[in-house]
Amino acid sequence: MPDMISLEEARDLVLSRVSALPVETVSILDAVGRVAAADLKSDIDISPFAHSAMDGFAVRAADLAAASPESPVELDVVAEVAAGETYEGSLAPGQCVRIMTGAPLPADADAVVKYEVVGVVSGDGKPGSRVSFDQPAALRANVREAGEEAKAGEIVVQAGEVVGTAGVGFLAGCGILEMPTYRRPRVAVAAIGSELVEPSVVPTAGKIRNSNSYALAACVRAAGGVPTILPIVEDSHEALAQAVREAARDYDFVITSGGASNGDFDFIKPVVSELGELLMTTVNMRPGKAQTFGIVDGTPVFGLPGNPAAAYVGFEMIIRPALRKMQGYTHFERPRVVAKLSRDVKKNDPRRIFLRSTLYKNDEGDYVVAPAKNQSSGLFGVIQRSNCMAIMPEGLESRTAGSLIECVLLDVAEESSL
Ligand code: AMP
Ligand code: MG
Repeated sequence: MPDMISLEEARDLVLSRVSALPVETVSILDAVGRVAAADLKSDIDISPFAHSAMDGFAVRAADLAAASPESPVELDVVAEVAAGETYEGSLAPGQCVRIMTGAPLPADADAVVKYEVVGVVSGDGKPGSRVSFDQPAALRANVREAGEEAKAGEIVVQAGEVVGTAGVGFLAGCGILEMPTYRRPRVAVAAIGSELVEPSVVPTAGKIRNSNSYALAACVRAAGGVPTILPIVEDSHEALAQAVREAARDYDFVITSGGASNGDFDFIKPVVSELGELLMTTVNMRPGKAQTFGIVDGTPVFGLPGNPAAAYVGFEMIIRPALRKMQGYTHFERPRVVAKLSRDVKKNDPRRIFLRSTLYKNDEGDYVVAPAKNQSSGLFGVIQRSNCMAIMPEGLESRTAGSLIECVLLDVAEESSL
């Protein structure tokens, strides 16, 4: 096992060790944001019949071919058809039908003219009236065609597609009320550290609250997984071995935080090695060099560092893609934007550095990125107030204000084509 690997190698390694979970069927309302596990087909044409897109008059376009303001064409209104009704008769030359939005186009009609441009010659515009037109109508004007969006039996959502909120409406229209999708991963989240207390408790001397488990459980949920926060694990080999063994048995994916470095009380590496296969320990990035990954009892086990920002970046960059692959997603990269640095950034660590930052547009419409002043890896609040991470590449090259830098957006979906 190599000592330190790149972030790309780490991500590929973890991705290579997970696969899509079994398929379950969910109601389309619960399918939003999830991946279709099969092609979905409409049972009918969408729309089922040609209909009017406007309130107006259904006409034979040929009747109006010579219409002009100087010599308008007059037609007889022979019927009225509302949405939900059908007009069974046909349209003879010189006739038109008053029609509402959504009503089927009568046989022989081939265009709809909206109310606003039709003059009433006699009557009230209802059947029995005479109306006038002072311009020709284009063939099929204001007509929504049958099968415009889909034909009966046609695939409307392909396997692998992520269903959006509009997609739910599309599926409903196609008579599809349930969707097969990949099961959400059940993820155990365990904090390691004898200094940790539950957040409900005011810490006594030397203790701190376990905030990581909450952030990581929230990250799991945001990634589509189902998190369970396990009890805090003290810094002992035995306690950690027992917790990891049980979690690997009961969950699809195990995440720990803390105890990932080389201190006297850091046990995640020896424990994974003892219980299973240790595949990775160190990634060339900052924050979060100590990233442990292995397989225990067939289950992926990921040991994040204890520092909050280090744990967060490790989750975002490596674990999130894995949880997404388990749910059938095929996009693993958050969108990136190139922006102007708001200030000088010195580099004195050769690792790739993720600067917690705020991206905005200046008055000229250019993207500017402002790295937070405090880049301590111990802070969650800074990330809460950031919307991206600016990436200082490997090496020791510092950057000056105004120079261009790549930023990875947080909280923008991987599928986004930004
Ligand atoms: P470690 O990776 O165990 O060496 O921890 C690094 C730093 O992160 C230490 O200051 C820990 O106290 C802190 N830390 C570890 N676990 C947590 C946690 N669950 N919540 C908040 N801070 C933590
Ligand atoms: Mg520790």
